[in-house]
Amino acid sequence: MITFEEAFRIVSEAAFRVGKEDVKITDAAGRALVAPVKSDMDMPPWNKSAVDGFACRREDLGGEMTVMETVAAGVMPSKKVVEGTCSRIMTGAAVPEGADYVFMLEESEEKEDGRVRFTGRPGNDNIARAAEDCYDGQTVLKAGRHIKPQDIAVMAVVGATTVTVSKRVKVGVISTGNELVEPDKKPVAAQIRNSNSSQLMAQVARAGAAGRYYGIARDEEAAIEKLLRKALDENDVVLISGGVSFGDYDLVPKVMRSLGLTIHFDQVAMQPGKPLTFCTGEKKAVFGLPGNPVSTFVQFEVMVRPFLDRMAGVATEEPRMLMPLATDYSRKRAERLAWIPFTVTPAGEALPLEYHGSGHITSLTGAWGLITIPRGQSWIQKGEMVNVRQI
Ligand code: AMP
Ligand code: MG
Repeated sequence: MITFEEAFRIVSEAAFRVGKEDVKITDAAGRALVAPVKSDMDMPPWNKSAVDGFACRREDLGGEMTVMETVAAGVMPSKKVVEGTCSRIMTGAAVPEGADYVFMLEESEEKEDGRVRFTGRPGNDNIARAAEDCYDGQTVLKAGRHIKPQDIAVMAVVGATTVTVSKRVKVGVISTGNELVEPDKKPVAAQIRNSNSSQLMAQVARAGAAGRYYGIARDEEAAIEKLLRKALDENDVVLISGGVSFGDYDLVPKVMRSLGLTIHFDQVAMQPGKPLTFCTGEKKAVFGLPGNPVSTFVQFEVMVRPFLDRMAGVATEEPRMLMPLATDYSRKRAERLAWIPFTVTPAGEALPLEYHGSGHITSLTGAWGLITIPRGQSWIQKGEMVNVRQI
């Protein structure tokens, strides 16, 4: 049995990069950006007013000023501001030459003769300086990140309407188990519904990868081999759930070997998900995920997702986010790194949720995230800081 850190390292090193493609920014959300985005202009292009008001010289704030013109957003000022004058200006408009202060409409008193007086107290100049956001030629987004909606705004601003991203990593999903029926069937006798496949497909989609579902293989070598071979042919990565423990019907590792794949580990000191099995072939990787739906979920989040990210050129770090624990926590055995579901209290503390173990699928739906319980730690006191991740 190896540690989580060791397993994570092996998996990270096995990641191989997929190809690139160009996409329109309207299709880019969630994709992995692999070429930097540069600005083709200064932003703002000129000193810009942050408020509706009057642009003037700071030193004239004490007296009355003559209003020369109105500068609306979308038109350039035509008059230079000089001593005793100002221009009415709208939010987003270019500040006229000569002005170094904009006072707000709410802090002004307009006279009938076209003059105006500042009634507030001098403070912030309400001017966004030219190029303070970014300058011409500046790299505004580095390669190696998942594209978020706010990144797309930056791309639009700098005119990068097409960006280079990794191709979606192709991921095949297979479930194994004689007891499984698909969710649209009502289980009879010893059957249960297959929840892993739909969950994994959703996790794959959330990771920005392209999932494809191959169905349920019965616990027979030939059946598993048939689906795994097909999924391997058609994908970069295969996630196969169930059949990796040490029961009589846990045949997945055997099939992995018969397909010529190299198994790198088949037991990791973590909870849930000790029997996680990882193997690779030529530009192919297979995760044999433990069958319990909570294990599958957690293993995907902590191990598979970072791997898929890496294949797409995004190097995700182990998240490090600390929160104080809301109650004392104890566990009997501490030889494995554990993740337990928690919610956030109104006081901003991490409260472990009722959790009966890796089959307890409904425990995750109310969870904000997972608390990491380090190996060797069997007791944590209320108020101590714990490492958490959002799920
Ligand atoms: P296994 O790893 O095949 O021994 O399965 C461990 C447990 O997870 C058993 O209780 C299985 O019934 C359950 N299980 C396996 N695969 C799935 C699945 N796709 N959906 C829901 N439960 C599953
Ligand atoms: Mg099974």
